Amino acid sequence: MKTFIVGNWKMNFTVGESSLYLHKLLKRIKPAKNLEIAVAPSTIALQPLSLQTDRKKIKLAAQNFYFRDYGAYTGEVSISQLRSLVDYALVGHSERRYIFHETDKDIREKVAAAIRGGIRPILCIGETETERDFGETEGVLKDQLFGGLQDVSEEDLNKVIVAYEPVWAISSVKGAKLASPDDVQKSINIIRKHLAAKFGKEREEKIPVLYGGSVNPQNAEAYLTLDDVNGLLIGGASLIADQFDDIIEIAKKVTNK
Ligand code: PEP
Repeated sequence: MKTFIVGNWKMNFTVGESSLYLHKLLKRIKPAKNLEIAVAPSTIALQPLSLQTDRKKIKLAAQNFYFRDYGAYTGEVSISQLRSLVDYALVGHSERRYIFHETDKDIREKVAAAIRGGIRPILCIGETETERDFGETEGVLKDQLFGGLQDVSEEDLNKVIVAYEPVWAISSVKGAKLASPDDVQKSINIIRKHLAAKFGKEREEKIPVLYGGSVNPQNAEAYLTLDDVNGLLIGGASLIADQFDDIIEIAKKVTNK
């Protein structure tokens, strides 16, 4: 399976800055076998960046979209509008769940809409610190996983990418802590166990599971070498070319081992 390195730029960079930054990354990054690199710029930058990027090197991901295809939904952008611009779309990011109050139903509709539209959803799941302290991690991961995947047919499961992102480890969260590789391994095992129990081992093995939460060039290798981790979703460090590039180099080294 490929290794995925996905940068989430969140609400950073103007369109001009995004374009300059992509230019810088394209100059540095060389395509590598078995490595898929994508960045998720702000929605307004997707159109110009889709013309600028070399998809063999860097693909684009949407940070957000609405699940309806068209209609009276002021301010929203649909998958059919994004179809020619992006290959991937984040769904269920904790900032969407907790700041914008997206429900499991919204997330489920979005996962299904992305698949209908030919865009691979990156379904983000992860427990908060309180849920972790109360020993609810497994229940939360299971609920978010199956809540998000409920409307996906078994044949379409291989289009889904799951990202485990413990909310307490996301660098922009106040008091964020670093998840130890052991913490991450436990949760990845939980995710894979439930996927296999519900969909069978063969289908489970085709679903990439990424890790995200304060990843940087110092800790990337430790997460990438965990069993059954197929890549990284990176926020803060993806905004700094040197760091993003260093993480990509680490991924290349680990992937080619
Ligand atoms: C994220 O918000 O998806 C994320 C992983 O952020 P960071 O890498 O900054 O913790």
